[in-house]
Amino acid sequence: MSRHHFEAYLDKVFDFSQRVGALPEGRHSPAHPWPKVFEAVFLGAAMQIPSLLQIEAECRRGVLTKRIGHISDDTFGYALQRQSPEPVFALGCDIARRLKRNGVLRSEWSRGLVVAAVDGIEICSSFARCCDACMQREVQHKVRGELRTDIQYYHRIVAAVIVSTPFPVPLGIRFQKDGEAEVPCALALLRDLVDQLGRRFLDLVVGDAIYLQAPFVKEVEALGLDWAFTLKENQGSRTALLALARGRLARGGTCDPRSENRAHGSQTRGHRQSGRRPRQENQEPGGSREHELLRHEFRTRRDPAAVHLSTEPQPVAH
Ligand SMILES: [Zn+2]
Repeated sequence: MSRHHFEAYLDKVFDFSQRVGALPEGRHSPAHPWPKVFEAVFLGAAMQIPSLLQIEAECRRGVLTKRIGHISDDTFGYALQRQSPEPVFALGCDIARRLKRNGVLRSEWSRGLVVAAVDGIEICSSFARCCDACMQREVQHKVRGELRTDIQYYHRIVAAVIVSTPFPVPLGIRFQKDGEAEVPCALALLRDLVDQLGRRFLDLVVGDAIYLQAPFVKEVEALGLDWAFTLKENQGSRTALLALARGRLARGGTCDPRSENRAHGSQTRGHRQSGRRPRQENQEPGGSREHELLRHEFRTRRDPAAVHLSTEPQPVAH
């Protein structure tokens, strides 16, 4: 699809230009209005241009020269920093509502349910501070062959992504604040989404083991959402979640008690710390692994005693 066709499609289905044109401006009399900067970054991202520097290059003499024209990457940074995130979040929710009305957020395997996955990811890290909102941690690393400890700055976001679709559809993101853990951040994001989209928009939330804790589960249920969370850490890849949700839904919401027993016997858990998440997200499920996952440990709202409703922020006890 050419960019021209892509944009014509966005306008026809979503009134995209009009919505973007209505985004409020956070700066005083800027040289490049916010909708233009937004479009440059949006189109750059849609074309999978990986950095603002490269989008700048495409605007100067590349595929975006005619469409956007020259904007420096400093202008991108300055403009992006000074907009309030709420209108952009609301724009994303408008698009999601249209997608739901058009019936594309559910699929046969999800039995007509709209399923969203929540997960936290680290999006950048640096030993030079990048902004006032950076999180920080001490990290041992080698500099010219010598091991030393330095403060590393980084950001983490929690994303909610619709996964009951042929391809994942991002719903919204929220930055973790310094000192804020992933689970409270995810809860705040889900609340914002339910505020914007209404209580009946999402049917089911899936996530990895850190979400399987009583306070979070209670809050998710108070938002009117069904849920399915894995029991074990290290199984949080989207593929695994899909396999789990698919298996779960295909079985019509019942659980194999034998696999539950296995789960209890084999559960181990290490302490999890913000920013130190074990990275095993590249494992390909493959036939046997998927089969294994389907038998493996996850819990849902309908399981009896799925979660010990204590205030202890830990997953299910042994
Ligand atoms: Zn920063």
